[in-house]
Amino acid sequence: MTAKRKRFIAGAVCPECQAKDTLAVWQDQGVDNVICVKCGFTQRQTDQVAADKTPAKDQIIGIFHPE
Ligand SMILES: [Zn+2]
Repeated sequence: MTAKRKRFIAGAVCPECQAKDTLAVWQDQGVDNVICVKCGFTQRQTDQVAADKTPAKDQIIGIFHPE
């Protein structure tokens, strides 16, 4: 299995053409690459951008009412 397997990122918006659901990602030598199938924009996901994917953990998930 050496074929590059692309998968689309649901809800992702291309930073170049602002199109939605056009970004596909595949792995190349352990690095995530992103391509927009609409405008051809490409980006390598380095460790620096990986932090962007971290979901916010400070969200309030409930309200606690102390007695
Ligand atoms: Zn694009």
